[in-house]
Amino acid sequence: MTDVLVSTPLDEARLAFRDELLESGMLVATSVPGIYGRSGDFERIVTGLDTLLGESFASLGATVLRFPPVYPRADFERTDYIASFPDLSGIVSSFEDGDREHRELLAAREDGHAWDGWLKPADVVLTNAICHPLYATLEGTLPEGGSVHDLSGYGFRHEPSNDPMRLQSFRMREFVFAGTPDAAQLYRDTWLDTSVAVLASLGLAVDAVPANDPFFGRAGKMLVSAQLRENLKVEIIVPLYGDLHEGTAIASANCQRDHLTAAFDIRTTDGEIAHGACIAFGMERTALALLRTHGMRLDAWPVDVRALLGL
Ligand code: ATP
Ligand code: ZN
Repeated sequence: MTDVLVSTPLDEARLAFRDELLESGMLVATSVPGIYGRSGDFERIVTGLDTLLGESFASLGATVLRFPPVYPRADFERTDYIASFPDLSGIVSSFEDGDREHRELLAAREDGHAWDGWLKPADVVLTNAICHPLYATLEGTLPEGGSVHDLSGYGFRHEPSNDPMRLQSFRMREFVFAGTPDAAQLYRDTWLDTSVAVLASLGLAVDAVPANDPFFGRAGKMLVSAQLRENLKVEIIVPLYGDLHEGTAIASANCQRDHLTAAFDIRTTDGEIAHGACIAFGMERTALALLRTHGMRLDAWPVDVRALLGL
Protein backbone atom coordinates (compact mmCIF):
# COMPACT_ATOMS: atom_id res chain seq x y z
CA MET A 1 0.00 0.00 0.00
CA THR A 2 2.20 2.82 -1.20
CA ASP A 3 -0.53 5.13 -2.45
CA VAL A 4 -2.01 5.76 0.98
CA LEU A 5 -0.83 8.42 3.38
CA VAL A 6 -0.16 6.60 6.64
CA SER A 7 -0.49 9.02 9.49
CA THR A 8 -0.88 7.11 12.76
CA PRO A 9 0.10 3.71 14.17
CA LEU A 10 -3.62 2.86 14.18
CA ASP A 11 -3.90 3.62 10.44
CA GLU A 12 -0.87 1.45 9.89
CA ALA A 13 -2.35 -1.41 11.89
CA ARG A 14 -5.57 -1.17 9.89
CA LEU A 15 -3.69 -1.20 6.59
CA ALA A 16 -1.64 -4.19 7.72
CA PHE A 17 -4.86 -6.07 8.55
CA ARG A 18 -6.29 -5.06 5.18
CA ASP A 19 -3.17 -6.33 3.41
CA GLU A 20 -3.40 -9.61 5.32
CA LEU A 21 -7.03 -10.03 4.21
CA LEU A 22 -6.15 -9.30 0.59
CA GLU A 23 -3.06 -11.51 0.55
CA SER A 24 -4.95 -14.45 2.02
CA GLY A 25 -7.68 -13.92 -0.59
CA MET A 26 -10.37 -13.44 2.06
CA LEU A 27 -11.20 -10.09 0.48
CA VAL A 28 -10.64 -8.92 -3.08
CA ALA A 29 -10.06 -5.19 -3.53
CA THR A 30 -11.84 -3.04 -6.08
CA SER A 31 -10.82 0.45 -7.21
CA VAL A 32 -13.06 2.02 -4.56
CA PRO A 33 -12.26 1.95 -0.84
CA GLY A 34 -14.77 0.00 1.22
CA ILE A 35 -16.07 -2.14 -1.70
CA TYR A 36 -14.67 -5.67 -1.73
CA GLY A 37 -15.29 -9.06 -3.23
CA ARG A 38 -15.39 -11.85 -0.65
CA SER A 39 -14.01 -15.37 -0.82
CA GLY A 40 -15.87 -18.63 -0.33
CA ASP A 41 -14.30 -19.02 3.11
CA PHE A 42 -15.41 -15.54 4.10
CA GLU A 43 -18.96 -16.38 3.02
CA ARG A 44 -18.85 -19.63 4.99
CA ILE A 45 -18.19 -17.58 8.13
CA VAL A 46 -21.08 -15.22 7.31
CA THR A 47 -23.43 -18.14 6.62
CA GLY A 48 -22.43 -19.85 9.88
CA LEU A 49 -22.99 -16.66 11.79
CA ASP A 50 -26.36 -16.09 10.15
CA THR A 51 -27.50 -19.57 11.20
CA LEU A 52 -26.17 -19.16 14.74
CA LEU A 53 -27.96 -15.81 15.15
CA GLY A 54 -31.20 -17.33 13.87
CA GLU A 55 -30.92 -20.12 16.45
CA SER A 56 -29.95 -17.77 19.27
CA PHE A 57 -32.95 -15.50 18.65
CA ALA A 58 -35.39 -18.29 17.77
CA SER A 59 -37.39 -17.96 21.00
CA LEU A 60 -38.44 -14.46 19.88
CA GLY A 61 -40.71 -16.06 17.31
CA ALA A 62 -39.87 -13.18 14.98
CA THR A 63 -41.56 -12.79 11.61
CA VAL A 64 -38.93 -13.22 8.91
CA LEU A 65 -38.90 -10.49 6.25
CA ARG A 66 -36.34 -9.73 3.55
CA PHE A 67 -36.15 -6.54 1.51
CA PRO A 68 -33.92 -5.71 -1.48
CA PRO A 69 -31.05 -3.22 -1.00
CA VAL A 70 -33.13 -0.32 -2.35
CA TYR A 71 -36.43 1.04 -1.04
CA PRO A 72 -38.94 3.72 -2.03
CA ARG A 73 -37.66 7.26 -2.05
CA ALA A 74 -41.03 8.33 -0.63
CA ASP A 75 -40.34 6.24 2.49
CA PHE A 76 -36.79 7.61 2.74
CA GLU A 77 -38.37 11.09 2.75
CA ARG A 78 -40.39 10.15 5.83
CA THR A 79 -37.25 9.29 7.81
CA ASP A 80 -34.90 12.11 8.77
CA TYR A 81 -31.88 10.37 7.23
CA ILE A 82 -31.07 13.14 4.75
CA ALA A 83 -31.20 15.65 7.63
CA SER A 84 -29.02 13.61 10.00
CA PHE A 85 -26.66 11.77 7.64
CA PRO A 86 -26.54 13.53 4.24
CA ASP A 87 -22.92 12.47 3.86
CA LEU A 88 -23.72 8.76 4.29
CA SER A 89 -26.76 8.54 2.04
CA GLY A 90 -26.98 7.24 -1.52
CA ILE A 91 -29.61 8.11 -4.09
CA VAL A 92 -30.24 6.06 -7.23
CA SER A 93 -30.37 8.00 -10.48
CA SER A 94 -31.38 6.88 -13.92
CA PHE A 95 -31.96 8.19 -17.41
CA GLU A 96 -35.54 9.18 -18.17
CA ASP A 97 -35.32 11.40 -21.25
CA GLY A 98 -35.34 10.79 -24.99
CA ASP A 99 -32.93 10.28 -27.88
CA ARG A 100 -31.84 13.91 -28.05
CA GLU A 101 -30.76 14.00 -24.40
CA HIS A 102 -29.10 10.61 -24.80
CA ARG A 103 -27.05 11.96 -27.72
CA GLU A 104 -26.02 14.92 -25.54
CA LEU A 105 -25.00 12.55 -22.76
CA LEU A 106 -22.94 10.43 -25.15
CA ALA A 107 -21.27 13.50 -26.63
CA ALA A 108 -20.31 14.75 -23.17
CA ARG A 109 -18.97 11.30 -22.28
CA GLU A 110 -17.01 11.15 -25.54
CA ASP A 111 -15.42 14.50 -24.67
CA GLY A 112 -14.45 13.20 -21.24
CA HIS A 113 -16.98 15.42 -19.48
CA ALA A 114 -19.35 14.51 -16.65
CA TRP A 115 -22.50 12.88 -18.06
CA ASP A 116 -24.38 12.13 -14.86
CA GLY A 117 -26.15 15.50 -15.04
CA TRP A 118 -28.43 13.84 -17.62
CA LEU A 119 -29.62 11.37 -15.00
CA LYS A 120 -32.52 12.10 -12.66
CA PRO A 121 -33.23 10.75 -9.17
CA ALA A 122 -35.23 7.53 -9.51
CA ASP A 123 -38.07 6.52 -7.20
CA VAL A 124 -35.77 4.33 -5.08
CA VAL A 125 -32.81 5.09 -2.79
CA LEU A 126 -30.13 2.80 -1.38
CA THR A 127 -31.16 1.36 1.98
CA ASN A 128 -28.94 2.75 4.73
CA ALA A 129 -30.41 0.94 7.74
CA ILE A 130 -32.28 -2.25 6.95
CA CYS A 131 -35.04 -1.50 9.46
CA HIS A 132 -36.23 1.55 7.51
CA PRO A 133 -38.08 -0.45 4.81
CA LEU A 134 -39.72 -2.48 7.58
CA TYR A 135 -41.04 0.55 9.49
CA ALA A 136 -42.56 1.84 6.27
CA THR A 137 -44.71 -1.30 6.12
CA LEU A 138 -45.90 -1.15 9.76
CA GLU A 139 -48.02 1.99 9.46
CA GLY A 140 -51.23 1.65 11.50
CA THR A 141 -51.95 -0.30 14.67
CA LEU A 142 -49.59 -3.06 15.81
CA PRO A 143 -50.92 -6.36 17.13
CA GLU A 144 -51.46 -6.70 20.90
CA GLY A 145 -48.02 -7.13 22.50
CA GLY A 146 -46.25 -5.48 19.57
CA SER A 147 -44.33 -7.00 16.67
CA VAL A 148 -40.92 -8.61 16.26
CA HIS A 149 -39.21 -8.96 12.87
CA ASP A 150 -36.10 -10.77 11.72
CA LEU A 151 -34.41 -8.79 8.93
CA SER A 152 -31.29 -9.31 6.87
CA GLY A 153 -29.88 -7.42 3.94
CA TYR A 154 -27.45 -4.93 2.52
CA GLY A 155 -27.01 -1.41 3.81
CA PHE A 156 -25.17 1.35 1.96
CA ARG A 157 -23.24 4.09 3.74
CA HIS A 158 -21.05 6.46 1.85
CA GLU A 159 -18.06 6.36 4.17
CA PRO A 160 -15.06 5.40 2.01
CA SER A 161 -12.14 4.25 4.17
CA ASN A 162 -9.03 2.11 4.10
CA ASP A 163 -10.12 0.56 7.39
CA PRO A 164 -11.30 -2.91 6.32
CA MET A 165 -13.96 -2.75 9.05
CA ARG A 166 -15.57 0.31 7.46
CA LEU A 167 -17.29 -0.72 4.25
CA GLN A 168 -19.61 1.22 1.98
CA SER A 169 -21.89 -1.74 1.34
CA PHE A 170 -22.34 -4.41 4.00
CA ARG A 171 -24.85 -6.86 5.41
CA MET A 172 -26.76 -6.50 8.62
CA ARG A 173 -28.98 -8.92 10.51
CA GLU A 174 -31.50 -7.16 12.68
CA PHE A 175 -34.13 -8.20 15.18
CA VAL A 176 -36.60 -5.34 15.43
CA PHE A 177 -39.31 -4.83 18.05
CA ALA A 178 -42.13 -2.29 17.95
CA GLY A 179 -44.58 -1.96 20.83
CA THR A 180 -45.12 -0.08 24.08
CA PRO A 181 -42.26 2.07 25.45
CA ASP A 182 -41.67 -0.24 28.43
CA ALA A 183 -41.66 -3.36 26.31
CA ALA A 184 -39.23 -1.77 23.83
CA GLN A 185 -36.78 -0.86 26.60
CA LEU A 186 -37.03 -4.34 28.12
CA TYR A 187 -36.52 -5.92 24.69
CA ARG A 188 -33.37 -3.92 24.04
CA ASP A 189 -31.84 -4.70 27.43
CA THR A 190 -32.71 -8.41 27.40
CA TRP A 191 -31.53 -9.15 23.88
CA LEU A 192 -28.40 -7.05 24.29
CA ASP A 193 -27.33 -9.54 26.97
CA THR A 194 -28.07 -12.48 24.66
CA SER A 195 -26.10 -10.84 21.85
CA VAL A 196 -23.06 -10.27 24.04
CA ALA A 197 -23.19 -13.91 25.17
CA VAL A 198 -23.46 -15.28 21.62
CA LEU A 199 -20.56 -13.19 20.33
CA ALA A 200 -18.43 -14.03 23.40
CA SER A 201 -19.07 -17.74 22.76
CA LEU A 202 -17.22 -17.28 19.46
CA GLY A 203 -14.06 -16.31 21.34
CA LEU A 204 -14.47 -12.58 20.69
CA ALA A 205 -13.30 -10.25 23.50
CA VAL A 206 -16.55 -8.28 23.45
CA ASP A 207 -17.56 -5.36 25.61
CA ALA A 208 -20.84 -3.39 25.63
CA VAL A 209 -20.40 0.38 25.69
CA PRO A 210 -22.67 3.43 25.33
CA ALA A 211 -22.31 4.92 21.87
CA ASN A 212 -23.49 7.64 19.56
CA ASP A 213 -24.12 8.06 15.86
CA PRO A 214 -22.15 10.44 13.62
CA PHE A 215 -25.00 12.94 13.17
CA PHE A 216 -24.11 15.61 10.66
CA GLY A 217 -23.46 19.26 11.41
CA ARG A 218 -24.20 21.53 14.33
CA ALA A 219 -27.75 20.37 15.01
CA GLY A 220 -26.32 16.86 14.98
CA LYS A 221 -24.07 17.61 17.96
CA MET A 222 -27.17 17.99 20.15
CA LEU A 223 -28.57 14.68 18.96
CA VAL A 224 -25.27 13.02 19.85
CA SER A 225 -25.34 14.29 23.42
CA ALA A 226 -28.99 13.26 23.88
CA GLN A 227 -28.22 9.79 22.56
CA LEU A 228 -25.39 9.37 25.06
CA ARG A 229 -27.20 10.97 28.00
CA GLU A 230 -30.22 8.74 27.61
CA ASN A 231 -28.17 5.63 26.80
CA LEU A 232 -30.22 4.97 23.68
CA LYS A 233 -27.46 3.20 21.80
CA VAL A 234 -25.20 0.46 23.14
CA GLU A 235 -22.50 -0.99 20.93
CA ILE A 236 -20.83 -4.35 21.25
CA ILE A 237 -17.20 -3.68 20.51
CA VAL A 238 -14.17 -5.91 19.97
CA PRO A 239 -10.58 -4.66 20.37
CA LEU A 240 -8.66 -5.49 17.18
CA TYR A 241 -5.47 -3.49 17.47
CA GLY A 242 -4.28 -3.90 21.06
CA ASP A 243 -3.81 -0.61 22.88
CA LEU A 244 -4.10 1.43 19.69
CA HIS A 245 -7.89 1.48 19.70
CA GLU A 246 -10.59 0.77 22.26
CA GLY A 247 -12.52 -1.46 19.88
CA THR A 248 -14.73 -1.58 16.78
CA ALA A 249 -18.51 -2.04 16.93
CA ILE A 250 -19.67 -5.35 15.51
CA ALA A 251 -23.25 -4.99 16.71
CA SER A 252 -25.50 -2.40 18.29
CA ALA A 253 -28.58 -2.49 20.49
CA ASN A 254 -30.77 0.54 20.07
CA CYS A 255 -33.73 2.19 21.70
CA GLN A 256 -35.21 4.13 18.85
CA ARG A 257 -38.00 5.55 21.01
CA ASP A 258 -40.63 7.08 18.68
CA HIS A 259 -38.03 8.17 16.12
CA LEU A 260 -39.25 6.01 13.22
CA THR A 261 -42.59 4.89 14.62
CA ALA A 262 -43.82 8.51 14.74
CA ALA A 263 -42.55 9.16 11.21
CA PHE A 264 -44.56 6.19 9.93
CA ASP A 265 -47.51 6.64 12.31
CA ILE A 266 -47.17 3.23 13.98
CA ARG A 267 -49.36 2.83 17.06
CA THR A 268 -49.97 0.35 19.85
CA THR A 269 -53.47 -1.01 20.55
CA ASP A 270 -54.02 1.80 23.11
CA GLY A 271 -53.71 4.34 20.29
CA GLU A 272 -50.35 5.75 21.42
CA ILE A 273 -47.34 6.06 19.12
CA ALA A 274 -45.29 2.87 19.51
CA HIS A 275 -41.61 2.74 20.41
CA GLY A 276 -39.03 0.80 18.39
CA ALA A 277 -35.96 -1.13 19.52
CA CYS A 278 -33.50 -3.13 17.49
CA ILE A 279 -30.50 -5.38 17.79
CA ALA A 280 -28.29 -5.05 14.70
CA PHE A 281 -25.34 -7.26 13.79
CA GLY A 282 -22.75 -6.23 11.22
CA MET A 283 -22.11 -9.47 9.34
CA GLU A 284 -18.86 -8.48 7.61
CA ARG A 285 -17.55 -6.75 10.71
CA THR A 286 -18.22 -9.80 12.86
CA ALA A 287 -16.59 -12.12 10.30
CA LEU A 288 -13.59 -9.77 10.15
CA ALA A 289 -13.34 -9.64 13.96
CA LEU A 290 -13.31 -13.46 13.96
CA LEU A 291 -10.55 -13.51 11.32
CA ARG A 292 -8.54 -10.97 13.28
CA THR A 293 -8.98 -12.97 16.49
CA HIS A 294 -8.52 -16.53 15.20
CA GLY A 295 -6.43 -16.02 12.07
CA MET A 296 -6.87 -16.38 8.30
CA ARG A 297 -6.91 -20.19 8.25
CA LEU A 298 -10.33 -21.48 9.25
CA ASP A 299 -9.02 -25.01 9.82
CA ALA A 300 -6.77 -23.60 12.56
CA TRP A 301 -9.64 -21.93 14.45
CA PRO A 302 -10.63 -23.29 17.89
CA VAL A 303 -12.72 -26.44 17.55
CA ASP A 304 -15.66 -25.08 19.57
CA VAL A 305 -15.87 -21.92 17.44
CA ARG A 306 -15.84 -23.97 14.25
CA ALA A 307 -18.55 -26.21 15.66
CA LEU A 308 -20.76 -23.21 16.55
CA LEU A 309 -20.38 -21.83 13.01
CA GLY A 310 -20.67 -25.19 11.27
CA LEU A 311 -17.19 -24.74 9.75
P1 ATP B 1 -20.05 3.07 13.34
O1 ATP B 1 -20.27 3.82 14.60
O2 ATP B 1 -18.87 2.14 13.39
O3 ATP B 1 -20.08 3.94 12.12
P2 ATP B 1 -22.86 2.65 13.28
O4 ATP B 1 -23.14 3.16 14.64
O5 ATP B 1 -23.16 3.56 12.18
O6 ATP B 1 -21.35 2.11 13.18
P3 ATP B 1 -25.16 0.98 13.24
O7 ATP B 1 -25.95 2.02 12.55
O8 ATP B 1 -25.43 0.73 14.67
O9 ATP B 1 -23.61 1.28 13.05
O10 ATP B 1 -25.21 -0.36 12.38
C1 ATP B 1 -25.24 -1.66 12.96
C2 ATP B 1 -23.98 -2.43 12.72
O11 ATP B 1 -23.66 -2.39 11.33
C3 ATP B 1 -22.75 -1.87 13.41
O12 ATP B 1 -22.64 -2.30 14.73
C4 ATP B 1 -21.66 -2.48 12.54
O13 ATP B 1 -21.37 -3.80 12.93
C5 ATP B 1 -22.27 -2.49 11.16
N1 ATP B 1 -21.75 -1.35 10.39
C6 ATP B 1 -22.09 -0.04 10.50
N2 ATP B 1 -21.41 0.72 9.66
C7 ATP B 1 -20.59 -0.13 8.97
C8 ATP B 1 -19.62 0.04 7.94
N3 ATP B 1 -19.38 1.24 7.41
N4 ATP B 1 -18.97 -1.06 7.47
C9 ATP B 1 -19.23 -2.28 7.97
N5 ATP B 1 -20.13 -2.50 8.95
C10 ATP B 1 -20.80 -1.45 9.44
ZN1 ZN C 1 -25.49 4.18 13.19
